[in-house]
Amino acid sequence: MAKAELMNYEQALEKFEVVIGLEVHVELNTKTKMFCGCRNDFGDEPNTNVCPVCLGLPGALPVVNKRAVESAIKIGLAIGCDIAPNGRFARKNYFYPDLAKNFQTSQFDEPIAFEGGVEVEVPSGQVYKIDIERAHMEEDAGKLTHVGGNTGRIQGAEFSLVDYNRAGVPLIEIVTKPVYGAGAEAPELAAAYVRYIREVVKALDVSEARMERGNVRCDANVSLRLHGAEKLGTRTETKNVNSLRSIERAVRYEIQRQAHILANGGTIIQETRHWHEDKGTTSAGRPKSDADDYRYFPEPDLVPVAPSKELIEELRASLPEDPATRRKRLQEAWGFSDLEFRDVVNAGLMDPIEETVAAGASPQAARKWWSGEIARQANADGKDVSELNVTAAQVAELAALVEAGKINDRIGREVLAAVMNGEGNPGEIVSAKGLEVVSDDGALMAAIDEALAKQPDVLEKIREGKVQAAGAVIGAVMQAMKGQADAGRVRELIIERAAQ
Ligand SMILES: [Zn+2]
Repeated sequence: MAKAELMNYEQALEKFEVVIGLEVHVELNTKTKMFCGCRNDFGDEPNTNVCPVCLGLPGALPVVNKRAVESAIKIGLAIGCDIAPNGRFARKNYFYPDLAKNFQTSQFDEPIAFEGGVEVEVPSGQVYKIDIERAHMEEDAGKLTHVGGNTGRIQGAEFSLVDYNRAGVPLIEIVTKPVYGAGAEAPELAAAYVRYIREVVKALDVSEARMERGNVRCDANVSLRLHGAEKLGTRTETKNVNSLRSIERAVRYEIQRQAHILANGGTIIQETRHWHEDKGTTSAGRPKSDADDYRYFPEPDLVPVAPSKELIEELRASLPEDPATRRKRLQEAWGFSDLEFRDVVNAGLMDPIEETVAAGASPQAARKWWSGEIARQANADGKDVSELNVTAAQVAELAALVEAGKINDRIGREVLAAVMNGEGNPGEIVSAKGLEVVSDDGALMAAIDEALAKQPDVLEKIREGKVQAAGAVIGAVMQAMKGQADAGRVRELIIERAAQ
């Protein structure tokens, strides 16, 4: 397939207005599935968590998971939605091998939550209001694995395997209204919104919220129209993008791709698209019209969900602080400047820093390590910091070693690299490799005198007030000690010597 031509991003934005719409699927962390008692667990042996209900065997009768309904209500309330006093499930009929029932139990015209809104801040500091159309309950499908091709997709595969463990896992789908006015920041806004939803469901403790495991997935709708045009352009829907970085890239790519087509007199096909992480491109999926007929009809085997006012108010009272309040509280507690804190949020480091501070590190030390060495490594590997082999407790231990003067910053970086390399905890690595700095003044003094013997004029210069002359001796001592000395202490000792 020929590579799509793209319009320069700035040019595209000069010519077109960008409209985005986001659908986020959140997998709930309930113990059991949405309509049966099977375990809801990631990574179990395929097809072991299945029963007649989630396999859609004739005569099997579903029962709604109460905890899942409560989680759905909590999410709805947390994103400012009204909760429907009475809502039915519906059957969305279609055939696909990962859907053993031949229909997905979902909600259609009666979602449990509707008409909400959230405020989301992008890296520039600009805040956008995003209107939420609805949040509804549904079940996940099974997982297909296509074997034999080289893309992992069905095209070119020799055979496909299906695992129904995921069939029937509770999902909440949150749908925004069209989002206008973000302009060049539309890609960042899409990612910031998904980050916000992830923070919400994590704080609510209703989902593991791990994007790399697909607990939170995003479908990104993008359309363009000429500035001033009233009618919305034709949109594409890039499916199942599962990292924040990819969401941003996918939206940006679609803007550039669509702009090129439209500017050259072409038309956009309304379709789903696949995101290719490796190439940074999207490709056509299946055509999708607004009139796709899934023959929705009310699910006759399930009673309507009718949460009482008391239950809704009880759940409302149980909500944790919202992400904006939490951010404000943490920034104050940590004493970070606006810029420092914004960088922390945008790098996804709020949680790890909070955990590291809880494990005993100072906020600035936690920030230094997470946004320095660790973020750099994550960037180099194209990963999220949560996927790296380092925990908050290890960072706190490292910070304590530096704080106590047992190691210096430079050795700290070396120790951290070893931690991420799976070599153990910081304390163990320092002992095993003998990295502790020399804090014995006698040993330092001996090294200083040795260095001074080679640079006899240094002491005289210091006595004349040229204190910077000490630099050369400090360098020589650090080299002799293989970096395992406290440079500050070495400097003090040299100046003391000059005063003698
Ligand atoms: Zn089951």
